[in-house]
Order: sequence, then structure tokens, then C-alpha cells
Amino acid sequence: MIRTYRFRVYPTDEQKAALSCSFGSVRYVYNAALAYRCKAYERRGESIYYYGTVKLLNKLKAAKPWLREAYSQCLQMLLRNLDAAFSNFFRNPETTGYPRFKKKDSAQSLQYPQGVKADFQRQMLYFPKTGWVSCVFHRRFKGGIRTVTLRKEKSGAYYASVLVDDGKNAEDIPAGRNVESESDVLGIDMGVKTLATCSDGTFYKNGKYLSESEKRLKKEQRNLSRKKKGSKNRAKQRIKVARIHERIANQRKDAIEKATAGIAGKSHAAVAVENLNIKGMQKNHHLAKTVSDASMSFFLTRLETKCISKGMHFVKVDRWFASSQTCSVCGFVNKETKDLRIREWECPECHTRHDRDANASLNIAREGYHLIARLPMDGGEVTPVETDKVDESAKAPKKPDVGETGRVPETSSLEAPRL
Ligand SMILES: [Zn+2]
Repeated sequence: MIRTYRFRVYPTDEQKAALSCSFGSVRYVYNAALAYRCKAYERRGESIYYYGTVKLLNKLKAAKPWLREAYSQCLQMLLRNLDAAFSNFFRNPETTGYPRFKKKDSAQSLQYPQGVKADFQRQMLYFPKTGWVSCVFHRRFKGGIRTVTLRKEKSGAYYASVLVDDGKNAEDIPAGRNVESESDVLGIDMGVKTLATCSDGTFYKNGKYLSESEKRLKKEQRNLSRKKKGSKNRAKQRIKVARIHERIANQRKDAIEKATAGIAGKSHAAVAVENLNIKGMQKNHHLAKTVSDASMSFFLTRLETKCISKGMHFVKVDRWFASSQTCSVCGFVNKETKDLRIREWECPECHTRHDRDANASLNIAREGYHLIARLPMDGGEVTPVETDKVDESAKAPKKPDVGETGRVPETSSLEAPRL
């Protein structure tokens, strides 16, 4: 199985200068290849694929000798990524944006299909053409290094995302556990402040310092808007803001990793979550912030991977199922609790007092159990039939997917054929 590890790396000033040249070359080639593909189609109706852009790269290299200073494999990988970006777009134009030109002032990245080595003793990573770079390995990994992405964030910090093949096959994953009763299913209600409320009474919160960072971000963003355009102070302030953005993203990610690991470590046979219509929710401006805050889709994918690797079943219950409005004791549907601000309520039928999230998690567990009970139990993943009645109007406008979860070049690399 392929796992991803992300490490902070600290290049020297000299290495930074060399990397900056490589970032430039990569950007140049990517933009040239993208323009080439677009123009060929517009002018001649001709579709250019990967090999067409490789020919272009060779011509470019002959004309611009400085391109040869960049690691050639990175340049080729880039063309693969561009190709993947186009196929993704054509396969799914509704949700995937048209490939875009790379900009100098956004985050920069280089992708190494091979040649990267790790030295845990010396805490260093080796990159072809750049050499050994200091790195903080917060954890060691076992297995062969596959693709490595070196990324320079807007804040100026460098990170390496290392894909590692741990050599384990899917067969090594434990067989699905038996679901015999409702209590074998752990229901999870996802929220904003409380990331996850579980039906066994436990809950996972966002990191302690997240709200502090968010307050600081607001303040520094206000400061930024006051700085004169084009001034040095504005540029400095920009970096400050980017740093806080990065910290917030890291804090969220950290909380999600901890919560999902905690849930996957439980002894339940199955985990049930709500299949959220995230796109529809983002359209609602009131909810937009909170949804992106909790990075729910990232939460779900991480949780699914971890649960399945532990032999737990993973089910998504219908997104239209009124988990927070139904009394988990008597089944009465209380429409008044639709309002998200209502955190606690008393059932008018059986007079049980409910915490909104805890009650929802119990309902999700029950619904999950019913779903599993109806399905053949042959182990592995259980995917319920989705009632896909998303109304077309709820589709959010296209947005490039570049949160901490969906960096386009990183995810597309997984699909690109290996060189
Ligand atoms: Zn009730």
C-alpha cells in the first residue's frame, strides 16, 4: 500500500537559489506545454497528448540551454501531470477545472519520480541535482520511496511529500469484523467545533490553538489591506499572512489525523458517518466557512482509509436522513431542531433531553446498522446504494481544488503512469 508522509525540509540559501531556478524551469515548461496544447486545439482542432508535449520539451531544451539545469525527470513528470490534469478535466468537467497556468507568486513544486533518498540518522533527504537537504523526520517509514514532491509554500517554508510503498498487499488487510448488533456500529456526527461526536459517548475536538490562530489571521489580514499596494511592507505582510494560513491548515490537519486515528483504534466492527453533500453546503454562505473549517471531506477520506485498514466496515448513511432532528429514543421527528444554533433540545414525545451531536451520532449508528444488516457480509468495504437526488441548482461554482487535501499536482501523480 502507498502511504504519504509529509516532512518539513530546510534547504540552505545556496540550495534555495538552485531550487528557485528549477521551479522557474518547471513553471516555464508547464505553461509552454499548456499553451501549446490549447493553441493546437483552437487553431487546428488538433489534440496534443503526452508524447506531443515531450517533443515540444526537447525543442525547448535545444533553444533554451538553461532548462537543462533542472532535473530532467521532474520536467517529464510535469508533462505527465499536465496530461492527467487534462484527462481529469475531460472525464469530469463539472467538478474539475480546466488546467491553469502556473503563477510565479503561488506555491511552487517539483516532483521527483525517482532518485530521492532518505537518511534518518543524519535527518536528510537527497534530491537529484540539489543534493542532501536537511529534513525533520517526525516519523520513520519503511519501504521504497516512490514519487516525492518538494513544495515551497507561499510562506517560504519547504515541505517534501514522500509516497512510500510499504510492500503490503491489500490481502494483508484484516478481514471485515462481524456486525451482530447495533452496538457494534460506531455512529459519528461531524461538526465544526467538535470535529466528531461518537455514539459511544466520546468526542474529538479541533486543536486548542486553532481559534487563536484564526483571530490572528483576521488581524493580520486587516493590516495587510491597510498597506500600500506594491510596497515592501505589503510584501512582508503577505508572507506573514501566508504563514498563519499555513499554520491553520496544519493545525486542522493534525486534529483530523488524531481524531481519525482515535476512531479507527476503537474495537467496533463498523463505523457509520453521514454522507454530507459538501458542495451543496458550501453554496450556503452561512455554512461555507464552517464546512471548509472542519475540512470534512478530508476527514471522511482519512477516516475511511484508516478504518478499512483495521478491518472495520465503513458506511455512509443517506445525506437526507434527518439525524439531528430525530429523537434517538422514541423516533419522534422534531422539525424545530433544524436550526443549527439549537445545541440541546427536549423531545416533546418522550421528554428525553438531547445533546444535538450526541443524539445525531446515535441515529447515525442505528441507520448504519440497518444498512449493513441489509447487505451481504463478505468483508471489506460496504458501500450503500446512494439515493443521488442532488438538485442540480445546489452544484457549487467551479473552484480549483487546492486545499490541504487536494493539491492538484500531488493527487494527479498517483494516477499518472509511472515512468
Ligand atoms: Zn423522544
